[in-house]
Amino acid sequence: MHDPNCLFCKIIAGQIPSRKVYEDEQVFAFHDIHPWAPVHFLIVPKIHLASMASATPEHAGLLGHMLLLAPKLAMEQGCNPYPEGGYSIVVNTGAEGGQEVHHLHMHVIGGPRPWLRG
Ligand code: AMP
Ligand code: ZN
Repeated sequence: MHDPNCLFCKIIAGQIPSRKVYEDEQVFAFHDIHPWAPVHFLIVPKIHLASMASATPEHAGLLGHMLLLAPKLAMEQGCNPYPEGGYSIVVNTGAEGGQEVHHLHMHVIGGPRPWLRG
């Protein structure tokens, strides 16, 4: 379930410090270390799943849980309400998709513009 060489598995285990946003049995959420925008945090599954390309139907509940948490946590973290406000939900997948950490993660990025990227 856990990869001893994985950065995000180490963050979930508390072996590497992070600024926690939220935690439950299935997921962990923490602030991105290099934010692009006033709000930028990551939601990750507690199981080591390398990417969206590794997801199977058995992960449907987990992925649905992550997706439904994003709006709730975005509001709690200071994103402005839809439709004037909002946020980006981004899942980079693979090298050409811009994925650098190979433990599935959902970026939630928002707050007043301009942003550095996106
Ligand atoms: P990606 O390019 O989609 O794989 O995104 C990886 C993200 O992880 C980047 O936005 C990094 O800034 C972020 N990141 C890398 N190391 C850490 C860390 N130790 N704590 C929090 N975020 C991190
Ligand atoms: Zn991992």
